[in-house]
Amino acid sequence: MSTWRDSARCIGTDPEMWFVATPGQRASNRDREDHAASVLLMRAICAACPVIAPCLEEALRRDEHGFWGGLTEAERAQIRGRKARVGNKAADPLLEQAMAEAREARRGRVA
Ligand code: SF4
Repeated sequence: MSTWRDSARCIGTDPEMWFVATPGQRASNRDREDHAASVLLMRAICAACPVIAPCLEEALRRDEHGFWGGLTEAERAQIRGRKARVGNKAADPLLEQAMAEAREARRGRVA
C-alpha cells in the first residue's frame, strides 16, 4: 500500500540532516551558521516536495521531532500552541495557516 511518504522528496537524503539540533545560547557563530545553512537546505528540499501538505499535517498531529513539512520543530510548536488556545473547531483554518507559513518559509521569510 502506498502512502504520501513514497513521494517524499527527502527520500534518499541523510536522515540525520532532518533532526539537526537547534544551537543553544552558548553555541558558536560557526554552529549557528551551520544550523542556518542546514535549515535553508531543508526548506529548499521541502519547497519542491509534492507531499508537503500531508507531511506537515502529520507532523502537527503527531508532535514529531525534526524538520517536517518545511517547518522546524519550534515553528510547528508555535502552530500547535495557537491550535491549543483556539480549540479543535479551528483545526482546518489553522492547518491552512500552517501551510501559508510553510509557503512563507519556503520563500525564506520565516527565520
Ligand atoms: S515536505 Fe519536506 S520533510 Fe516532508 S516529505 Fe517532503 S521533503 Fe520530506
